[in-house]
Amino acid sequence: MTSPARLTQRLTFSASVDQLVLIACVFWAFSANRLFLGAALKQHGDVPVAGFALALVVMLVALHYVLIAPFAYRLTVKPLLTLLLVGTAVATHYMRSYGVVLDTSMMTNVWRTDPTEARELLSWGLATHLLLYAALPAVLLWRVRIVTRPWPRATAFKLGGLVLAVVAFAAALLPVFKPVASMMRGHKEIRYLAAPANFLWSTGAVAAAQARGAAQPRRLLGLDATPGPTWSARTRPLVVVLVVGETARAANWQLNGYERPTTPELARLPVINFSDVSSCGTNTETSLPCMFAPVGRRDYDEARIRGSESLLHLLVHAGATVHWRDNQSGCKGVCAGLPEDKVVSLNPAGLCSDGRCLDEGLLVGLNERLAAARTVNGRAATQLLVLHQLGSHGPAYFRRYPPAFAHFTPACENDDLQKCTREEIVNAYDNSLRYTDHVLGSLIATLQRNEADVDSALIYVSDHGESLGERNLYLHGLPWFIAPKEQKQVPMVMWLSSGLAGANGVDAACLRRRAAEPASHDHLFHTVLGLLDVKTAVYEPAWDLADGCRSVQFAAPLAGNFGGVAAPSPGRTKQVN
Ligand SMILES: [Zn+2]
Repeated sequence: MTSPARLTQRLTFSASVDQLVLIACVFWAFSANRLFLGAALKQHGDVPVAGFALALVVMLVALHYVLIAPFAYRLTVKPLLTLLLVGTAVATHYMRSYGVVLDTSMMTNVWRTDPTEARELLSWGLATHLLLYAALPAVLLWRVRIVTRPWPRATAFKLGGLVLAVVAFAAALLPVFKPVASMMRGHKEIRYLAAPANFLWSTGAVAAAQARGAAQPRRLLGLDATPGPTWSARTRPLVVVLVVGETARAANWQLNGYERPTTPELARLPVINFSDVSSCGTNTETSLPCMFAPVGRRDYDEARIRGSESLLHLLVHAGATVHWRDNQSGCKGVCAGLPEDKVVSLNPAGLCSDGRCLDEGLLVGLNERLAAARTVNGRAATQLLVLHQLGSHGPAYFRRYPPAFAHFTPACENDDLQKCTREEIVNAYDNSLRYTDHVLGSLIATLQRNEADVDSALIYVSDHGESLGERNLYLHGLPWFIAPKEQKQVPMVMWLSSGLAGANGVDAACLRRRAAEPASHDHLFHTVLGLLDVKTAVYEPAWDLADGCRSVQFAAPLAGNFGGVAAPSPGRTKQVN
């Protein structure tokens, strides 16, 4: 009979620190790189597939050894490998389940995810995966008795091991250099599939970017901004409400021709639907700052966008009032230092549970805010109110709408999308759009009720789209250049109060014609500046969707009201179109 003590003794292994690192690297090369190898092997060119596979595995092992071994010592090796086991298991689970790629922007998303979001992502699928690929190996790891060597010998082994790894990497690369080089040129995104290097690299890049961003104050934007002539001419306040949608895709938007009634309330309202709008990014972390920047996707520069003030700061320079109301993971620096509140803190009755609120919470106190706008500093206020939705944030679409909006059934009611059929997933997603439609409909109704006293405009635009099973992809966040159009085409809707045309001369019929042509997030910044009539050198009329749809007639009868500003010449009182 074997006593338990003896059995434990038998299950104890001995290994050196560097041997442990090597074993871990071999384990990951085979267990965590199915996607990487699958994608990479298709690029084998004229090298035999088996040879290419062998070379890639050797390179994976050698690369990870070089990355990890310098940090592995007697006291650090077990905690370090445990952390990597858990991280790699989580990462590969999401890569396999949803086809998401762990690049830097996705990693920023992961590390900034709030606990509520994280809880929704936990599932039985993940638990099983974690048990097999993290917990079990970790138990074995902690059973290992580490063989220690005197430090001169240990150092020699460490350096020797690193040199060997570099030599092995080079030796494996040489015969397959041609296909690897062409793969790195043509399909760079494949490197984001190599685990755990992908999340080590991305996490490092995110940390470096954060450190850089935190160290520098934001560059000021549009300090020259001043109120346009309509500000003093107006007798009523002007409020632009900008609703930043979440994960709504153009393909499922009824106003864009989707066959299901996902936007019945908007369909009954005189809204202007922009049918061909592309997003700046494929995740919130990229799109949100980009939407509020003067130059977005057309000359994308993440560092410039994050290092600079946003549209909101510029409006404050001009003397406008701004407010950000959030029902999601925050404004990502867009409203830094400016007035903001969170729906979850307002805790509207019957709309919140478990730290999450339904989007109707965004409308709490809106009437009062519109009433207050009439009397800011005793004159007609100019205001931008941003409402940041939770929208159709996945994968738990069914948590985004109250039961009354479960219109399309059966809807997926599991946090783990893999437990549902594609039809159920689409049903839940469409229900969430239908609820967004209701939130927007209610918002417009409130603005309409105040039309006699407040001129207003609503702009709704989603931050990015979503994959719902096309080409086996789910969710969003693929790098922009390889992302399918479902992740990049977003709905956008405008509504203008009847008094607005008189207040700043926007011609709705003209805007409606413009709405059929392509537009993008790049237009948002300049369109809002135009709507609020803010003058600044940053403003580019070519990117204002309402440019060419603005009549200047409003200025003529009111010219006397703003003394110093010259009235437009009679020749310019026609519609500029
Ligand atoms: Zn988003």
